[in-house]
Amino acid sequence: MCNYNFKSDSQPKFLPMSRDEMEALGWEELDILLISGDAYVDHPAFGPALLGRWLLAHGFKVGIISQPDWKNNELSPLNVMGRPRLFAGITAGSMDSMLAHYTAFRKKRKDDAYTPGGLAGARPNRACLVYTGMTRQAFPGLPVILGGIEASLRRTSHYDFWSDSLRKSILLDSKADLLVYGMGETSLLTLAVRADSLERKSPAEYLAGKVSLIDECKDVRGIAFVGRPEDIPDQLHSLRLPAHQEILDDPKYLIQATLDLERQVHQACRVAVQETEGRLVLLNPPNPPMSREEMDRLYSLPFARAAHPSYTQPVPALEMLKTSITSHRGCGGGCSFCSLALHQGRLISSRSEESVLQETAEMLKNLPKGRRARQRGLAISDIGGPTVNMWGAVCEFTPESCTRTSCLFPTICPGFKVNQSRHVSMLRRVKSLPGVSQVRIGSGLRYDLGMRDPEALRAYIGEFIGGQLKVAPEHVSDSVLTLMRKPARGLFEVFLNNFVRVTRQSGKEQYVVPYLMSGFPGCNDGDMRALAVWLAERGWRPQQVQCFIPTPGTLATAMYYSRLDPAGNIIYVARTDAERLRQHQILLGKDPLGAARLVRQKKSAAASR
Ligand code: SF4
Repeated sequence: MCNYNFKSDSQPKFLPMSRDEMEALGWEELDILLISGDAYVDHPAFGPALLGRWLLAHGFKVGIISQPDWKNNELSPLNVMGRPRLFAGITAGSMDSMLAHYTAFRKKRKDDAYTPGGLAGARPNRACLVYTGMTRQAFPGLPVILGGIEASLRRTSHYDFWSDSLRKSILLDSKADLLVYGMGETSLLTLAVRADSLERKSPAEYLAGKVSLIDECKDVRGIAFVGRPEDIPDQLHSLRLPAHQEILDDPKYLIQATLDLERQVHQACRVAVQETEGRLVLLNPPNPPMSREEMDRLYSLPFARAAHPSYTQPVPALEMLKTSITSHRGCGGGCSFCSLALHQGRLISSRSEESVLQETAEMLKNLPKGRRARQRGLAISDIGGPTVNMWGAVCEFTPESCTRTSCLFPTICPGFKVNQSRHVSMLRRVKSLPGVSQVRIGSGLRYDLGMRDPEALRAYIGEFIGGQLKVAPEHVSDSVLTLMRKPARGLFEVFLNNFVRVTRQSGKEQYVVPYLMSGFPGCNDGDMRALAVWLAERGWRPQQVQCFIPTPGTLATAMYYSRLDPAGNIIYVARTDAERLRQHQILLGKDPLGAARLVRQKKSAAASR
């Protein structure tokens, strides 16, 4: 019998992945089966562990099947723990499966950081679709719920770079029952409670698939479902997105649909509706961000911070994240190429300082025994979220009626309030704990925000970056930066001067590691040369560079698809591999026209003046 009250004790070291493990816990059947395209790593940075333990803490028996063998048609790998009582929850993993498999030039990747041994090929392309099909085959009639980044960002019609086509909502493509978008804890728990009550009322009908979970859950926030015209609320409470066919006929409607969705994730009362071939996909309003208390409860769960013991090889992503601590979620930046705002939202959910200290204390308890390990101490690789200096940020206006698509661009909204000095004080408290040898901020720092609090910025740079500060100017051409919704070049240069001054004062050797991008919609070869020259003038060799990948759902992808800017003006888009590669080569300094030559010319012109 489920008791929905939160209870974090008496959780197992790992959630079960086999019948033996299930039976060792005294469970005869699962309530919920989570199926993931990633290896099962019991760490709060990994979705299935977070959701599985959250549901378990509310009384549901949860098992995990990780990277099931989809090529095996005869024996369903999903059957190892039997049919779950309530539903299966499916995620492609921490990344869209197509992005995990292919490079910006559509070449197959050889590695996968979320798989033991880092080997590629453990999950299928379009994993949500394949896993839904497998679940339907293994457990006919069992409700299937999609979640995770692949489902979330493909929740309405979207451009798919890998097939170069407009695809329907993944809900229609996969034929799953429901889709949870965004961070899933609240919605999934509500769905579990509703499913539990339905199943208890009529177990035989539920088992036979004769009871509709959709009908029972049409009011649940943060979900998408295929509905009927009578499910659409009145005009004030609904938002008609351009229909799939309208977008096919005129790509400008993908821009409109994306801008509408960016606003809908704020508007707590509006249901977004999209029609596709006579069917209606309804997106309920999102959940409000988790409260500090909820965040603290969630992160207080007893994660093993290790990969499941059945794996014989390390999971590379865990090695990177093992000693990182998530202090908050969400990002107010609204960069046009980033999927975060559409997934985690622009409003920030933060943990309390005490909760972060508590997690550090748990990590200290679990340090390996022995003198050398004690001497080394605990080196925390990151305390952060999508943007490190947004911990504790709040909107002091009314986010439900906000029509902006970024809290920071083109200017920092006066309603966006963040106390970065408090954040620094939290980092210092963690660092002062006995046994902690160092604390770093590995997440990106938003420098325009940082410059609002020079004291805090000095502390970030002087105490927590370990020699390298990651910032993401992405470009230096102001027209491209505007399309990216990034601060102008001038501001970045002011920041760099600040950085150099603080670094000199501290007497340390420190560098800025700028993240840069080629091939962005609206960026032409001239813009790339301007960036290459800018780098060459400083004697910088770019390290963190990427060619823009039009991932599903973002505004930048809609620009790439439509060749229009958000105002409807035609823009240049490097669409062919040759055009994209050329821009990338320019950035890497391999330009046949020679950025280096341009720099030499500029220098000799300056010398002769
Ligand atoms: S009102 Fe300002 S701070 Fe609040 S959500 Fe809108 S842009 Fe962000």
